[in-house]
Amino acid sequence: MSAHPATTPVTSGSEAAPRPHWRLASETLLYLNGVTVSFDGFKALNSLSFYVLERELRAIIGPNGAGKTTMMDVVTGKTRPTAGEVSFNGDIDLTRLDEAAIANLGIGRKFQKPTVFDSHSVYDNLELALAGNRAVLRSLFFRLSGEQRDRIDEVLATIALAPQRATLAGALSHGQKQWLEIGMLLMQDPELLLVDEPAAGMTDAETAQTAELLKEINKRHTVVVVEHDMAFVRALDCHVTVLHEGRVLAEGSLDSVQSNHDVIEVYLGR
Ligand code: ADP
Ligand code: MG
Repeated sequence: MSAHPATTPVTSGSEAAPRPHWRLASETLLYLNGVTVSFDGFKALNSLSFYVLERELRAIIGPNGAGKTTMMDVVTGKTRPTAGEVSFNGDIDLTRLDEAAIANLGIGRKFQKPTVFDSHSVYDNLELALAGNRAVLRSLFFRLSGEQRDRIDEVLATIALAPQRATLAGALSHGQKQWLEIGMLLMQDPELLLVDEPAAGMTDAETAQTAELLKEINKRHTVVVVEHDMAFVRALDCHVTVLHEGRVLAEGSLDSVQSNHDVIEVYLGR
């Protein structure tokens, strides 16, 4: 979504964002409020507050160590915050749930390294993802319904790997493996997709294609993507949140954050 509502609370680094009551019921999908994560006293997240709307595409940028991956760890239940709340779909408090329960709510996560099954075909990887990783063996022998086959074909088209459906995943390029893994997440039809540095190690052409892929996915899913590559972030054409030292430093269009003095100082100007 490029036109973010003008009523977005202005988030300064020093205080929690005001809770957006009027839209919690229908429009806010994910809301972090005062989230702190301490590792032996070091605050990887320091009262981090921001929210993401339903069906939004949001880019998160910030220097190394800003807390971007830790934020995703908190949302997915991998790391429990020391303080703060994370609400999903209105009133579900994610900080009380474990990773499996959070995944079942419809939150999918793409890690930096692709974890596809190299010795299986692209098609089989998507089929395995349908059943979930728990049932890998069983799913190799299960019969797909027509609807499930249609879903696999649809995802193959979305990730632009239809011509490679019979190719072993191990033979794909790095970029294609990343798309396959995104496709595997799509098989679970997540409401929210978290993607950490998808363009790392990609060619410029693959990076541009990944931006298009995420925009396409965003037609049906809310997407939060962490990325360093500014050409990629520009291509996404979305609202940008800048993290620094575990909190929000600036938020807005890419142009507005790139001209923000604090952002230039800590990040872009180096
Ligand atoms: P980013 O993804 O923005 O580069 P991270 O979220 O990975 O940053 O890390 C934020 C900070 O928290 C870094 O200083 C990192 O070293 C620290 N950190 C992350 N995970 C741990 C951990 N498990 N134990 C101790 N420190 C950690
Ligand atoms: Mg990271």
